[in-house]
Amino acid sequence: MQNKIYDAIIVGGGPAGLAAALSLKENGITDVLILERDKELGGILNQCIHNGFGLHTFNEELTGPEYAARYIQMVLTEKIPYQLETMVMNIEPVEENGTVIKVVTATSTEYGMQLLKTKSVILSMGCREKPRGALNIPGYRPAGIYSAGTAQKFVNIDGFMPGREVVILGSGDIGLIMARRMTLEGAKVKLVAEIMPYSGGLKRNIVQCLDDFGIPLLLSHTVVEIKGKTRVEGVVIAKVDENFRPIPGTEQEISCDTLLLSVGLIPENELSRNMGLAMSPATRGAVVDDDLQTSCPGVFACGNVLHVHDLVDHVSEEAVEAGKHAADYIKGFAASDPGLTHDLDPDTALMKKFAARNATRNGVNPNETIENADGSKTFVLPCINCPAGCIVNVTVKDGQVTEVSGNKCPRGETYARNEVTAPVRIVTSNVYVSGSDKPVVSVKTAEPIPKGSIDACVEALKNVTAKAPVKIGDVVLANVAGTGIDVIATANAE
Ligand SMILES: Cc1cc2nc3c(=O)[nH]c(=O)nc-3n(C[C@H](O)[C@H](O)[C@H](O)COP(=O)(O)OP(=O)(O)OC[C@H]3O[C@@H](n4cnc5c(N)ncnc54)[C@H](O)[C@@H]3O)c2cc1C
Repeated sequence: MQNKIYDAIIVGGGPAGLAAALSLKENGITDVLILERDKELGGILNQCIHNGFGLHTFNEELTGPEYAARYIQMVLTEKIPYQLETMVMNIEPVEENGTVIKVVTATSTEYGMQLLKTKSVILSMGCREKPRGALNIPGYRPAGIYSAGTAQKFVNIDGFMPGREVVILGSGDIGLIMARRMTLEGAKVKLVAEIMPYSGGLKRNIVQCLDDFGIPLLLSHTVVEIKGKTRVEGVVIAKVDENFRPIPGTEQEISCDTLLLSVGLIPENELSRNMGLAMSPATRGAVVDDDLQTSCPGVFACGNVLHVHDLVDHVSEEAVEAGKHAADYIKGFAASDPGLTHDLDPDTALMKKFAARNATRNGVNPNETIENADGSKTFVLPCINCPAGCIVNVTVKDGQVTEVSGNKCPRGETYARNEVTAPVRIVTSNVYVSGSDKPVVSVKTAEPIPKGSIDACVEALKNVTAKAPVKIGDVVLANVAGTGIDVIATANAE
C-alpha cells in the first residue's frame, strides 16, 4: 500500500466525475486522482452520438461526445491526473493515526492491484440498464437480445449492426433513440412495445425518433414470448390490463431477428452497497445529505450513481456541488474526526426532489390537428427543442402561420413555425474511419437539414470513409445531399 494520502479520489470519469474534479480544483483542492475503468474519459456520453446535450451548460445543442470532449479538455488544461482502464473494486474507511481515511482498491493492467489512500472519495460510477433477467420473459435464450445501450455501443462505437428486423420493448429514451439509430443504419424497426399506458421517454424523442420514421408505439403492450432457439426469430406481444397482466386473445406474433430492451436504468451500486452505505429504495442510489455526502463521512456521490438523471446538464451541476462540499470536507479534515459512519435522514428535501424527478415521466404526445370554423387548422405539437417538451399550438390559414401559443421560449415558436411549414432536423450518425484504432467516428450535419433529405444524407454517409486524424468540427462531407450543409465530425479519431 502506498503511504501517500490523496485529498480526493474520484471513481468514474464520466461527466459527473469530470465536473467534480474541476470543481475540487476550482475550490483549491489539487491532489486529486480520477479512476476510470474504460479506455477513455467521458462515460456513457461517448456512445450517445445523438444531439440534445448541453443546452443549459453551454447554451448549445451538442452531441454526447462533443459535450464530453469539452469537459475532458478542461480536465487536461487543468492537468488533473487520471488513470484509465482502472477498475475500482472496493472502498473501505480505515482508522489511521486517530483519523479516518479511505482505502481504495483498484486493478488495472498497467499498475496491477493498487491500494490507494485518500481523505475523501467522490462516487460517480453512473448507472446501467436493467437486464432481461429482471423481466421474466419466457422462451429460450437465443442470440439477438440486447439491452438498448449495448446495441448503442455496437452501432456507435464498434461500428456493427446487431440485427436487421427489430422489436423494442420499453419506450425509455435509450430505446427511442435506438429505434431511430437502427432505422438510419438500414434496419426495419417494427414497433416499440410499452407496458405502461404512457411512454417512459421524453416527448421530443417520441417525435424525432418514432413519429419521424413512422415507427408504431404500442402502449399497454408487452412481449410475452420470444421465438427461436439459436437466434431470435420473432416475439409474441400482447395487450395488458390495468394490472399489467397480458389479456388472453390479444397476442400477435411479430417476426424479427433482434429484440432490444429499454426497460429502465439503475444506479451502478455495487461499490456503494459493499461499503455498507445507506441506500434509498426510492432512487436506488445512496442516501445523501444536503452536501451530497453519503452515510460514510468523506464519501460523496453525484450523477447517475446517485439517481438517474434525464439531462447531463443536471449531472454536471450536481457534480460541481459535490466537488465544492468535498473540498470543504478536505479543508476541515485535520480539524475533526469524522468517524466511520453517520446517520442520515433518507427523507430530506433533496432526497425527495431526486425521487420526484425519477417519478415524473411524460405521458402521451397529443399530436392533434384541430379544424377551426374559419377554415384554419391548429396543430398541437410537442416542441422538440429541449426536454421540457412544451405543447405548442400553431394555427395555419392558407399556408400561413397566423398564431403560435404555448411555447415558453422563442426557440419554441421558431420550431413550431418550421414544423408545420418546412420541418428540419439535425442528422447524427457515424462514418468509417481509416488509420485509427477506432472503426468509426461520429458525425452530424452542421445545421438542421430538411426532414425530407434525411434518407439521402444517411445514404451519402454510407460511402464516406474519413482519414485519421479526424478532429471535432472537421468537415467529413461537404454539401450533403445537395442541402448546402456540411457534415462535421463530433468526436476525435487519432
Ligand atoms: C442512452 C442514453 C441517452 C441519453 N441521452 C441524453 C440526452 O439526449 N440528453 C442529455 O442531456 N442526457 C442524456 N443522457 C443522460 C446522460 O448521458 C447521463 O445522465 C450522464 O452521462 C451521466 O453521467 P455520469 O457521469 O453520472 O455517468 P456515466 O456517463 O455513466 O459515467 C460513469 C463512469 O464511471 C465509470 N465507472 C463505473 N464503475 C466504475 C468502477 N468501479 N471503477 C472505475 N470506473 C467506473 C464508467 O466506466 C463511466 O465512464 C442519456 C443517457 C443514456 C444512457
